[in-house]
Amino acid sequence: MNNEDNHKNVRVRYAPSPTGFLHIGNAQSALFNYLFARHFDGTMVLRIEDTDSKRNVPHGEESQKDNLKWLGIDWDEGPDRPNPKYAPYRQSERTKIYSKYIEELLKEGIAYKDYTTEDELERMRTIQKAHGVAPHYDGRWYGRSVEDQKRAAASGLKPSVRLHLPPHHTYAWNDIAKGHVSFDSDNMGGDFIIQKSNGIPTYNFAVVVDDYLMDITHVLRGDDHIANTPKQIAIYEALGWKCPNFCHISLIYNPKTRKKLSKRDKDTLQFISEYKRQGYLSEAIFNFIAFLGWSPVGEDEIFSRDELIKQYDLGRMSKSPAYFNQDKLDWMNAEYIRKDSTEDLVDRITGLIKEGETDIAKKLQRLSLTNLREFIYQVTKIYQNESYKLTDIMKHVDFYANVCDQDMNLEGLDKLAKDDTLSVLNSLSDRIKQLKNSPDDKVDFKKMIDMVSTETGISGRKLYFPLNISFTGNQSAPQINEIMNLYSYSTILKLLDKSINYLKGDQVQYS
Ligand code: GLU
Repeated sequence: MNNEDNHKNVRVRYAPSPTGFLHIGNAQSALFNYLFARHFDGTMVLRIEDTDSKRNVPHGEESQKDNLKWLGIDWDEGPDRPNPKYAPYRQSERTKIYSKYIEELLKEGIAYKDYTTEDELERMRTIQKAHGVAPHYDGRWYGRSVEDQKRAAASGLKPSVRLHLPPHHTYAWNDIAKGHVSFDSDNMGGDFIIQKSNGIPTYNFAVVVDDYLMDITHVLRGDDHIANTPKQIAIYEALGWKCPNFCHISLIYNPKTRKKLSKRDKDTLQFISEYKRQGYLSEAIFNFIAFLGWSPVGEDEIFSRDELIKQYDLGRMSKSPAYFNQDKLDWMNAEYIRKDSTEDLVDRITGLIKEGETDIAKKLQRLSLTNLREFIYQVTKIYQNESYKLTDIMKHVDFYANVCDQDMNLEGLDKLAKDDTLSVLNSLSDRIKQLKNSPDDKVDFKKMIDMVSTETGISGRKLYFPLNISFTGNQSAPQINEIMNLYSYSTILKLLDKSINYLKGDQVQYS
């Protein structure tokens, strides 16, 4: 098969188990399947692997879908977009299909019923351990007589079904990411369960039946599944089916522990919903995850979704662990914030405020500004170029909206000659007082500051330093005239008064 043929009618699938919400590791699998499908004009399937009903969480499926959509990952087939040729797409609705194939394998004697109890299995493992042998099922029910089986069944035991592995058999495949991988049937833990004693097929069995019946051409999944693949190949062989292509994606690692990212790693956000809440842009997360386990040709790192789809090439999947780099993510997010339109950022920020899922969002929900959107717009315009996350901008919104209640650090004010500072502040204060009677005028604060400079003969740092401190509490601030625009005249006067009184050594009380 040449490469072109290999990529005709590509069908891939993302197959989450709704036992949790969309984790960054799941998102990585989903994203590579998506890029692959879109690059080759193929079909992306969403299949829900929900056979482990005890572990399913309420709204797990819905949450997976919502977060995929937020990331910009869509699918062509799935529970909500069924293709009658392949439906249903939830494994819990496909149990009859699996039973049919289990029966077939039982009839052929390739699979068999196993009545071993949990206690017996435990004893088996203990003895093996004592002999220094790796734990494995010893095949004790393989080839047992019908009488034995009847007796066990009559005693009330419920059998599981195991697939018999031929001895000394090699299961090998050419993994798209990892290269040649092979396992020996003698080292695979013995004949393995394909149907549990409760009648539910195991993950390995259901996945093979589904991938085959759904015409999946390429299986892209995390490399934690590598040890499952020889078992799945054994099932394909037993059923006489052709295997799909396999690609095992490098898992995400924590750079500090140098271990696989674990749910216990508190310094890394684990779920896509958390990234959203913390003010990361979906495009930035998409771009960032695409680089976890893959890299394009060249040095560029900022790629839109369309560019990634165009560039995506399975040949560049990495063999080694993908280290999660928080600084890089923040840098990328800042780049996306910088490039985005202010209007769009405001939409996203107001969305976050509405959802109210973080402290800062809840705080902003309580703001009673008459034109909150305009206020957010002005703050965003000022801080867009220097913010890493939307929540950074939101914190500024909160600060400026409640500036009179802020505990401003005015200490730096006395760093400069007191008289100079006072004359700057007083001159500005006088000008603002004159404005008070005509609040509808649009004031050009930049011009006003220039006039203060002309009047006092003070310029540069000596002029801006006191203004920065008075209006932001910081010695350096972006575009102080824009910041003044965020305030009412009375607020500006209050802030100037506060500074003037501080320099005079008076304590001021504000109502
Ligand atoms: N349900 C499996 C998981 O969530 C899917 C593995 C696969 O893609 O085969 O890990």
